[in-house]
Amino acid sequence: MPKKDSLRFIMNNGKNRYCNVRCHDALKKPCMCVCGGINHGVGSYLATGNIQALLDQKDDIGFSTIFVRMIQLQLFLTKSVD
Ligand SMILES: [Zn+2]
Repeated sequence: MPKKDSLRFIMNNGKNRYCNVRCHDALKKPCMCVCGGINHGVGSYLATGNIQALLDQKDDIGFSTIFVRMIQLQLFLTKSVD
């Protein structure tokens, strides 16, 4: 079971990586997580709000899709941009 507010990234190499409460509630740097520090220590509420910022860096981070609570968000969010 994925934890609540865990973000699952499908990387371009097909692997899964996670950004979860261990990152969102972190008190110390550095961030070793796939989010590259965007969600580090910001709390879960802000972390899910940062998804658009993460999608903007999709190519830099190297992922194709983000899932939150098993919901695929990338298609939904990019649709409103087009
Ligand atoms: Zn993270």
